[in-house]
Amino acid sequence: MAILYKCRHCKQLLGTIKQDIVDTRSLGWQTLSNEDRKEMIQYGANGEIEMYVICEDCQETLEHNPHYHALDSFLQ
Ligand SMILES: [Zn+2]
Repeated sequence: MAILYKCRHCKQLLGTIKQDIVDTRSLGWQTLSNEDRKEMIQYGANGEIEMYVICEDCQETLEHNPHYHALDSFLQ
């Protein structure tokens, strides 16, 4: 099973984790609400898991342009 980390804003692939058995606890998923989980975690057609996070570039952009948060839903 592979987990692909992608930026939810720019869709950049940030990293890939390949594991036979994924311990979701080690990924911190239990700290997410069900809503966050639905939003952040998606299952790809080949059985891979796509995790939507935020990359450093977008994080920086958001920090310098807080109003971008309001645009979040338009970008998805
Ligand atoms: Zn990004």
